[in-house]
Amino acid sequence: MIKKEIIEEVIEEIEKKENDNRVAKRLVEVKFDNGMALSYLSEIEEIEVGDLVTVEGKLEDEIGVVKTVKKSFKTPKFEMKWIERVLDRDVTGNYFKLGEDMVSTYCSLTAEKFITMFAGLKYKDNKAVGEDEIELDLANFEDDEMFDNELVKIRGKEIFKANGVMFISLQDGIGKAIVRGSEWYEIDFRCKSGRITYIACDCPYFGECKHEVAFLYKLRDFWKKFSKQSNSDNFVMCRKEYFNAILSNGKGKVSMKL
Ligand SMILES: [Zn+2]
Repeated sequence: MIKKEIIEEVIEEIEKKENDNRVAKRLVEVKFDNGMALSYLSEIEEIEVGDLVTVEGKLEDEIGVVKTVKKSFKTPKFEMKWIERVLDRDVTGNYFKLGEDMVSTYCSLTAEKFITMFAGLKYKDNKAVGEDEIELDLANFEDDEMFDNELVKIRGKEIFKANGVMFISLQDGIGKAIVRGSEWYEIDFRCKSGRITYIACDCPYFGECKHEVAFLYKLRDFWKKFSKQSNSDNFVMCRKEYFNAILSNGKGKVSMKL
């Protein structure tokens, strides 16, 4: 049996060799939320001022904004950390306005892009993979025994009414929603013929939470309006103010029907 430590050593050795082959194409200054600005090397030539990036080193869990990009620079003698990746912010697609929301039946705005653009969070790719199938009718979900906590339902309705559901996407029955409570939370869900067959929120609350309630109220309300305009089962919905921010910050092409 090969010891775990030996495997880890070998992996480390391989990674070190790969890293040694990196070519610094740009010297980049990155500003972080805490006000700190630090310099990094970048292999990516296309990196631009305003790009959102993740980096190596002690700030690896943060998302920073590129402030300056230098094409010509002396390779520093001291060891520098590297830009890990540039977050994708291109958004393309056709949108129409539905109340206070913007909706598209085909566009490239994913939950990952939405989260990294606006919540400053790293996307957690927990897909809806739970085994526990449920059968929740959107029309009267609040009467289901799953939602037997009255306080959770009241709080959930408050979040819904305060426009706390920022984003919902549904593609081939698999969906994701972003709900803003005290923090931003991700909800994974599955939906078949208007019935919710799986739902999970990443907040620490045990059992069905107020974010799920807020999301279900919003989805029901949304679906009523949406089904009058489109017969598609796939859609992306985001709050109008975020859509406007995408138009002013994004690099992609977005067209609108008002
Ligand atoms: Zn929750």
